[in-house]
Amino acid sequence: MPIPNVLKDFECTGCGECCRWGGSVLLTDADIATMACHLGVSEQEFIDRHTRLAPNRIQLALLDKADGSCAFLEGSRCGIYPARPEQCRSFPFAWSVPEGCPALDRLRAAGSPEAPREPRRSAVL
Ligand code: SF4
Ligand code: SF4
Repeated sequence: MPIPNVLKDFECTGCGECCRWGGSVLLTDADIATMACHLGVSEQEFIDRHTRLAPNRIQLALLDKADGSCAFLEGSRCGIYPARPEQCRSFPFAWSVPEGCPALDRLRAAGSPEAPREPRRSAVL
């Protein structure tokens, strides 16, 4: 999926907050294949160990920790960063949130016309 360069001034702080938000990290078939390969397990093993049925009941999602953060979050870093799902790769370029991402909030505070002020979702996962 091409990601439009709509936020050229966006600089992620690496705070990891977006990996702690409530909700689901939805997975595509390609995500599962990539993550399984990265971890050196079969796709079925990956599904059995690391996923659950998403609330939409048509997709799998990554498991969460007890506090709601993603099970793959290690401190403030993604433990599978090179193989992270498209949903994670495409934030905030294909979808965004009204507040809570420090890098986006900073762009908004600076009056950047690039920073989306409303939640948006254009990614089809
Ligand atoms: S919340 Fe924003 S600044 Fe923090 S890690 Fe996620 S994308 Fe980067
Ligand atoms: S897979 Fe990685 S980037 Fe995506 S929510 Fe989990 S820890 Fe964050």
